[in-house]
Amino acid sequence: MSIAPPAPPTVPFHVPHTAAQQDAYLRDVLAAGDLDGNGPYTRRAARLLSELTQTPEVLLTPSCTHALEIAALLLDLAPGDEVVMPSFTFAPTASAFALRGAVPVFVDSRPDTLNLDETALEKAITERTRAVVAMHYAGVACEMREIQRVADAHGLPVLEDNAHGLGASYEGRPLGGFGVLAAQSFHATKNVHCGKGGALLVNDPSLVDRATVIRDRGTDRHRYFLGQVDKYRWVDLGSSYILPEMLAALLAAQLEEFDAVQRQRHLLWDVYHAELAEWAAEQGVALPVVPAGRAHSAHLYHLVLPSEQDRVALLAHLDEHGVRATPHFQPLHNSPAGRRYGRCATPAGCPVAERVADALVRLPLHTGLGEAQVRQVVRAVQSFRTGAGRAGRREESS
Ligand SMILES: *Cc1c(COP(=O)(O)O)cnc(C)c1O
Repeated sequence: MSIAPPAPPTVPFHVPHTAAQQDAYLRDVLAAGDLDGNGPYTRRAARLLSELTQTPEVLLTPSCTHALEIAALLLDLAPGDEVVMPSFTFAPTASAFALRGAVPVFVDSRPDTLNLDETALEKAITERTRAVVAMHYAGVACEMREIQRVADAHGLPVLEDNAHGLGASYEGRPLGGFGVLAAQSFHATKNVHCGKGGALLVNDPSLVDRATVIRDRGTDRHRYFLGQVDKYRWVDLGSSYILPEMLAALLAAQLEEFDAVQRQRHLLWDVYHAELAEWAAEQGVALPVVPAGRAHSAHLYHLVLPSEQDRVALLAHLDEHGVRATPHFQPLHNSPAGRRYGRCATPAGCPVAERVADALVRLPLHTGLGEAQVRQVVRAVQSFRTGAGRAGRREESS
């Protein structure tokens, strides 16, 4: 009777980062009893974020989605106004604006970075356009120079959905500092997190006061605390968009470790990139592209396979080898709500977004992984052949 060798432990797709000080900080908040937000840990987390992004004003929120909703309120959108954005992004990028009655107008992606195709931006702009949203996929910057040029030519504000881009830069400037407003995410799936959290970076000083009011249920409570008014009142639209202090404490602990988190993620990302290059070229697989002048955030490591069948086969193959990998965004332009509330910028649709969404695989990339596990993932990927790879072999041998 033969005994099968033990299977290597499964490599999980994601394990949220744990920060050394988080328990101590949480106990501290509980002991102080000041739980509602805007306390010392909120100030600490906001200062760290402000330093990382080199932006002047950071408002912590319960999620990136909420930060985008504040941004949409600040734009004073009217029904029928249009907001131009990529189709290849997450639902809240569009939903936040559709909630205000605006129409998301979807633009296709560049095939290399998978970011909004800046050469298609101008054609997407109409007299109803009120803003342009850039989302930096995988923390690789959009072509901000061209996006800003087109937006400026039409007098439109640029907003950043920077959920992936903390720590990344474009021509030496951190992402999150390009838009009039930028939204960050600290959801458990992001590089640093507090379970669920976010931030709005307010880069236009004229918007700070109103953003503060909107975040605090539409009241001027901050003026009351500053002693500027003797009672606070309902002064604008708003909601309950302040991050609780417990979560700010978790976030502060995580942000204090940001450099170490990023060092480890970059190390793992670099192993994938070096070790999979030859395999990818043989198999017709596209690896991430980081154009010159950009530093990425090591948020994702993704492969774009030649076809959807290859994607299905690779996910099954990795699963057999104890590696959990996943697809990613489905395009918004042809999603049920995207069709109802938005429209495509051109009748041609978004063919790049559609193809990539069907063929993309994300590999595990998190601080719970050691180099040995990443090499296990690499070996599992390298032992897979795409349809194109198999055809290439047949040609070689004939
Ligand atoms: C994660 C993510 C969001 C949403 O973040 P939440 O904090 O969960 O609301 C928005 N946009 C993009 C591109 C994301 O990846």
